[in-house]
Amino acid sequence: MKKRRADKDAAAPVPETKPGTWSLHVLGTGAAGAVDLGSSGAVLERDGEPLLLIDCGPGTLEHYLRCYGALPPAVFITHGHMDHVAGLERLFHAAWFDPRERGRVKLFVHANLVPILQARAADYPNALAEGGANFWEAFRFVPLSRGFWLEGWWCDVFGTRHHVPGTSFGVALRGCFAWTGDTRPIPELLVEHSDARTLVAHDCALVGNPSHTGVEDLEREYPEELRERLLLYHYGSEADAAALRARGFRVAVPDGRYPLQAPHPVRPEAG
Ligand SMILES: [Zn+2]
Ligand SMILES: [Zn+2]
Repeated sequence: MKKRRADKDAAAPVPETKPGTWSLHVLGTGAAGAVDLGSSGAVLERDGEPLLLIDCGPGTLEHYLRCYGALPPAVFITHGHMDHVAGLERLFHAAWFDPRERGRVKLFVHANLVPILQARAADYPNALAEGGANFWEAFRFVPLSRGFWLEGWWCDVFGTRHHVPGTSFGVALRGCFAWTGDTRPIPELLVEHSDARTLVAHDCALVGNPSHTGVEDLEREYPEELRERLLLYHYGSEADAAALRARGFRVAVPDGRYPLQAPHPVRPEAG
């Protein structure tokens, strides 16, 4: 695991000058009911090293451990639906009972999600039967609003259109990638948070609904230039994936690894 450099000026972290090789490792691509495709989630990698796990649904942590052999250095949670957070209790146990890991895994969570995750994951009486453990103490819990610093890079966080407003969030690293989380189309946000070199991993089923994007939504609301940068996930079946490909879209496969451009240098106004 790459060691962080000692940062004398913590208020203004500066990315290393070497851009490195970046990729997005999509662990699972399934909608909530598409268990065979794995829970939707991904790992941002730099030079083959995991930097950030996005979401921790059923089976995600086990999949991650098979690939990387250790707990993730950081986790970003998009929203509180169980197909994205059901693995948090397992992550708690893995971190709490390993003295090297307790309090080390950064958990990046939008402030709006704190009460939701408190209810979903942390509020069960006694995190351990024998007592002595506070759920969040297993992690480095980092509530956030506009975004967060990750190893010297600024990640934007933006609200998406999924169920109750203000409860679902995407994440983007400028010039590199954006992960929409579960959402209806958000063209105005993707203009803001992506550019021509940014891969946009996007929620998409074959048929949309009030919470999720469908392929006709993409065709209607997104310009061609953006559609060409999409990588679709959170679909219902392999047959749906084939149908999406037949419509001209790139569709992620479980365990697929997708090359990314190195992020732009940090903007002075970020943070
Ligand atoms: Zn979902
Ligand atoms: Zn959802």
